[in-house]
Amino acid sequence: MNMPHSVSRRQFVAGTSGLLLAGAAHRGVSAAVAHQDSKLAVDGGEKAVKASAGSGTRWGDVELRQLEEMLQQNSLFYWQGQQTALLTERFQGFCPVEHVQTCSSGTAALHIAVAAAGIGLGDEVITSPVTDIGSVIGVLYQQAVPVFADLGAGTCNLDVADVERRITPRTKAIIAVHLTGNPCDLDALKALADRHNLILIEDCAQAWGARYRGRPIGTVGHFACFSLQNSKHITCGDGGVVGSNDERFGPLLQKFGDKGGDRRKWGGFDAFATNYRMSEPQAAVAAAQLTRLEDIAAKRARLGNLLTEQIADLPGLIPHEVHPEDRAVYWFYMFRMRPEAFTCGRSPFVKALQAEGAPVSGGYIKVPLYGEPVFQQHGFFAGRWPVKEMGLTEMDFSTHKCPEAEAILETSMRVLIDEHMTEEYILEVGAAIRKVARHFAA
Ligand SMILES: *Cc1c(COP(=O)(O)O)cnc(C)c1O
Repeated sequence: MNMPHSVSRRQFVAGTSGLLLAGAAHRGVSAAVAHQDSKLAVDGGEKAVKASAGSGTRWGDVELRQLEEMLQQNSLFYWQGQQTALLTERFQGFCPVEHVQTCSSGTAALHIAVAAAGIGLGDEVITSPVTDIGSVIGVLYQQAVPVFADLGAGTCNLDVADVERRITPRTKAIIAVHLTGNPCDLDALKALADRHNLILIEDCAQAWGARYRGRPIGTVGHFACFSLQNSKHITCGDGGVVGSNDERFGPLLQKFGDKGGDRRKWGGFDAFATNYRMSEPQAAVAAAQLTRLEDIAAKRARLGNLLTEQIADLPGLIPHEVHPEDRAVYWFYMFRMRPEAFTCGRSPFVKALQAEGAPVSGGYIKVPLYGEPVFQQHGFFAGRWPVKEMGLTEMDFSTHKCPEAEAILETSMRVLIDEHMTEEYILEVGAAIRKVARHFAA
């Protein structure tokens, strides 16, 4: 994706007939021919995407063998379970952290991290408003306060300067969400956290296999939290993993995932926690899935970067911004339109792309998290929010604003990325975007 335009253009010409014609049009071939080619599919023209998306199964023999092995066991409980041990070992193979706890979801992984970090009543945790609500469920359950910070226009990840502006004496932690598997600026966030004595939690739910400046995702922060939910690219239906290299927090992960009791030296319950255990069948499938991780991550990275090459020179579009030394794994691909650059809004743009056969839809979540009714009404616990009633926070989600995050949700488009897709298909999706963008250019 960091190739000069000349290279990407050459590749594009080699890869698609669409650009051959577009190139020809530039060189002065009759306007009628170019026009014929550029008639939108939504207006009865030919579709830009003709290749099949490609297909494949997500699980197979590896998972089956692992499940069969598991069925030889007498216990399907996680503690001292062989599948849990295997999952932990394979997890540490790509995310080298000392302490690991498997759990029932990504939400659980994040809640365990927040609890193990000692975050509690009235503490503030700064995070992104454009994420799965699971990023902040644990914060709220610990009676802490999520504080939403604004995002970078192209990365759609935390804007470090805005995070800094939102730090108060009550701030305890930052949850860095690697949205769509595009790494946050972790060095900057870690430096900021260190300066203010804050804990950095990485939400890697969408980022299996991503790399930050060559380092595995999850290894810069104090905690790494992953989801194994069905929509993520490594999955066991539902599940999660939380890891830490920090000697203050790592040894606490197990008990905060398992009712508050330490199973290594049973001493009853000296902490309060819920049951977030993962059972052996989930662990078996997840362990098998991890053997596929590198291939899946590499393929997704290649497809997403290829799409960036195809649209990077369109002036009205903001491609997904990824640091050249990072590996983004594109849980989906996100790009934005500059409204003033087009004669139509996002909705007709998306409709036209869909008619071309491109797997595109508008935006991501409907509103930033603080815009959801439960936040607007501060109705977290039977319609009430104890922290606010006690006067321990001035947070008012009904007046909270993150302008760039809101603009991102209003102007972005999401392209489905799947590791089974062919490069030819992605080139045609790129051609569809170019065609539609050219048609609607202001
Ligand atoms: C999916 C997701 C979660 C929550 O994971 P679950 O396993 O669904 O609980 C948290 N954060 C992000 C960024 C996610 O995409």
